[in-house]
Amino acid sequence: MTSDGETFPCPPWCTGEHRLLEDPEDGFLHSAPEAPEMTLAAAHGLHGGGQLPVQVLLCSRVPQLTAEPKPPVIEVCVDRHPGPEMTPGQARQLAAVLIELSDLAEVGQRGSTRSPGMVAGS
Ligand SMILES: [Zn+2]
Repeated sequence: MTSDGETFPCPPWCTGEHRLLEDPEDGFLHSAPEAPEMTLAAAHGLHGGGQLPVQVLLCSRVPQLTAEPKPPVIEVCVDRHPGPEMTPGQARQLAAVLIELSDLAEVGQRGSTRSPGMVAGS
């Protein structure tokens, strides 16, 4: 087997927009469509307890676009530190997004037994 000239396709969830990472040696990012931004309450005492934008992203780093993507990760981007306070309802909302992206991430993994549109017994 040889890797000469071998290329790896984007993960199935990739939008095709490949962001160059800050350090060019880190390469590029395959990224899924952005989940809707959530706004959570900031922790007590922080900027008067204002609102805190939180964005959850599914992405996979790759040194070169022709290389095999690294395992997908889910980034939780919080605008400020420390992290947000969540109501149980907001926590469930965040959890739902994380689960959705986790399921999406596993669609493109080798050896995954999951498949979109799993058929349950009728
Ligand atoms: Zn891609």
